[in-house]
Amino acid sequence: MKFHQPGAEIFIPDGLAVELAFSRTTHIAISAHQDDIEIMAAGPIIECFQQDDRWFTGVVVSDGRGSPRDDLYKNYSDEEMRTVRFKEQKKAAIVGEYAAQVLLDYPSKAIKDGSNRETIEDLVTVLKAARPKYVYTHNLADKHDTHVGVALKVIAALRSLPKDVQPKAVYGCEVWRNLDWMIDADKIAFDLSAHESLQAALLGVFDSQIAGGKRYDLATMGRRKANATYFESHGVDTTQGLSFAMDLTPLIADPNKEIRPFVQEHIDRFAKEVTERLMRLT
Ligand SMILES: [Zn+2]
Repeated sequence: MKFHQPGAEIFIPDGLAVELAFSRTTHIAISAHQDDIEIMAAGPIIECFQQDDRWFTGVVVSDGRGSPRDDLYKNYSDEEMRTVRFKEQKKAAIVGEYAAQVLLDYPSKAIKDGSNRETIEDLVTVLKAARPKYVYTHNLADKHDTHVGVALKVIAALRSLPKDVQPKAVYGCEVWRNLDWMIDADKIAFDLSAHESLQAALLGVFDSQIAGGKRYDLATMGRRKANATYFESHGVDTTQGLSFAMDLTPLIADPNKEIRPFVQEHIDRFAKEVTERLMRLT
């Protein structure tokens, strides 16, 4: 498998030949940074864990060179940070028993560049090899440019695939901004009640970011709990953890569907719900 960046890597935790490792993939998550997958796509990781007929593959597009650093890592060069972050992502792939982990090694600049085609071509290469049924990426209302940049590249890559290779569903998941604001009918909810300690372990391997001053591990597990408890205002909690996603499948099913109005419609439905409640109660 050939990628554009000379530093791109493929890591197969169980050492299977690359083609076989990819072809067993059923679920794939494509993220901007090392650790985003474990924050946003715990649902499919758990769904595939220890299953013979379901396999999870991770793809990280950025190189990690610009990562914030502090504590033990304070004086690390960009190159050393890249090495640390690649190593952490591979540790997560081992802990989560991924089918494969791809690290595409792009600077954030390339991801945020709407005219960059190389990122899209690399994603097409991965998607053709993996032929996943389900694709997970960032949601289009995320507040990090690089995250939204990746989501747009993923949509472009999926739209360019022949129909018979396209996935059944594509989900935009939570990292920098949760999706609690969406109306319930728009929410895709992943039940994260199972394997809580495995979820914590997957988040915990990213020491360079946590020691860098951000408790993503605690915040992410807390968000899952909060999502579960605040999802239903009546009745007891039916799950111990939830994460939400925006269904991006309509953008792939109809390649001519415009992206901005599609996101705006989600915001409009939220605005309508808030306004209607106020009208009813005043
Ligand atoms: Zn990120």
